[in-house]
Amino acid sequence: MQTFEHTPHLHVDADSRDGAADDWGHLVHHRPRAVARPSTVDELVAVAEYADAQRLPYVVRGQGHSPAGASQIADGLVIDTGALRAVHDIDSDRITVDAGARWSDVLRASLAQGRTPPVLTDYLELSVGGTLSVGGIGGATHRHGLQTDNVLELQVRSPDGVVRSCSAAEDREVFDAVRGGHGRHGVILRATLRLVPAPERVSRRLLRYDDLADFLADQRRLMTGGEFDHLEGLAKPAEDGSGWEYVLDVANYYTRTPPIFADSGLRHRAEEFVDQEYFEFLAAMAPLEELLRDTGAWYLPHPWLNAFLPDSAADDVIAETMRDLDPADLGAPDGGLVLLYPLRTDVIRTPRRRLPEEPIAFLFALLRTAPTDDPGALRRMLDGNDVLRRRTLDAGGFIYLEP
Ligand SMILES: Cc1cc2nc3c(=O)[nH]c(=O)nc-3n(C[C@H](O)[C@H](O)[C@H](O)COP(=O)(O)OP(=O)(O)OC[C@H]3O[C@@H](n4cnc5c(N)ncnc54)[C@H](O)[C@@H]3O)c2cc1C
Repeated sequence: MQTFEHTPHLHVDADSRDGAADDWGHLVHHRPRAVARPSTVDELVAVAEYADAQRLPYVVRGQGHSPAGASQIADGLVIDTGALRAVHDIDSDRITVDAGARWSDVLRASLAQGRTPPVLTDYLELSVGGTLSVGGIGGATHRHGLQTDNVLELQVRSPDGVVRSCSAAEDREVFDAVRGGHGRHGVILRATLRLVPAPERVSRRLLRYDDLADFLADQRRLMTGGEFDHLEGLAKPAEDGSGWEYVLDVANYYTRTPPIFADSGLRHRAEEFVDQEYFEFLAAMAPLEELLRDTGAWYLPHPWLNAFLPDSAADDVIAETMRDLDPADLGAPDGGLVLLYPLRTDVIRTPRRRLPEEPIAFLFALLRTAPTDDPGALRRMLDGNDVLRRRTLDAGGFIYLEP
């Protein structure tokens, strides 16, 4: 067996191999034979050519924030794009970056020109190549689709070894295969992403509900009304221990005059207004990440399940799941969350991103953190995920982040 000890750019030390055999989930561990860390696109292409010549299977890794081993490979090569973060051209309507750039890199560079990507994920430290390989959902998805719907051009090394540019107008097949393709149809080397004018501030309204049906009805209504730039929602354990509280999170962007929210007969119990800078609003996960790193919850296993539910089944599946869900089944305090919000399926045009065939679908995500002091907790969480996976598929839904 070849050992790669003297092959340039390949790391075979135990720390590199163990690091690449882990990810956000800490549940799956496939140990590679070597890890490459190219810092330019040319180096990446050379490494992939070398791997092909050696018949060495490889997988590309962005930030390794997948929950279940998507960027791992047993006995193969992991090509880690963490150092491939260059920002190239930036224009009023587009930015070109290397695939390992994080969305925070993209946002900082574009905000310096008064521009922004139209859709950002809640967490900005994910790689462009990583989210374009799965979809990329955020609070603006109900209006602008996924991040994969907002790509103008990709430079790709396709499985036949050819480096090509592709877009909606050129090599469409490759473009459609790679976006949401889970890294199986080519390596994304560089991406040209759509930009729009950036606002300076965000006026946000957080509406609190005790009743799930009211919450879902108001979410549908606000999304269909189309008056908000941002729309998300979540469930969290009620502070008085009486079950679940639902929070509807809507916002409008502005630069000079804050928008006025019309009170349109919504059924919330309480509400809160927040006015923030645009960057602060988008980077809201940063202080939470710091907290979770401090408490250690960031490093615990994350048995996550992200479901796309058809509108027609959403109320029943969500109600059943929330009824059976004990707050302890989400995990450590601050570490667990349920994300719950609607999407308009007609604005999502990425061919590989399969969604329920209804005008509205709900993202229903159980973002769990398994404590280490209860050995049965992880098993219960995984079993609970299996139940939701089955309910989702039976209802005509799909699971996000699972190829
Ligand atoms: C804290 C946290 C918050 C999150 N928030 C959101 C959110 O708001 N919205 C959302 O949609 N998702 C969210 N996710 C999920 C996240 O989008 C996916 O897990 C994403 O794949 C992670 O990106 P990554 O850079 O870590 O990719 P990795 O996990 O490293 O890779 C993911 C997949 O992409 C492939 N890949 C990576 N780079 C390339 C490339 N250059 N070419 C070809 N294939 C490649 C890999 O082989 C793998 O199959 C979140 C995850 C975490 C941990």
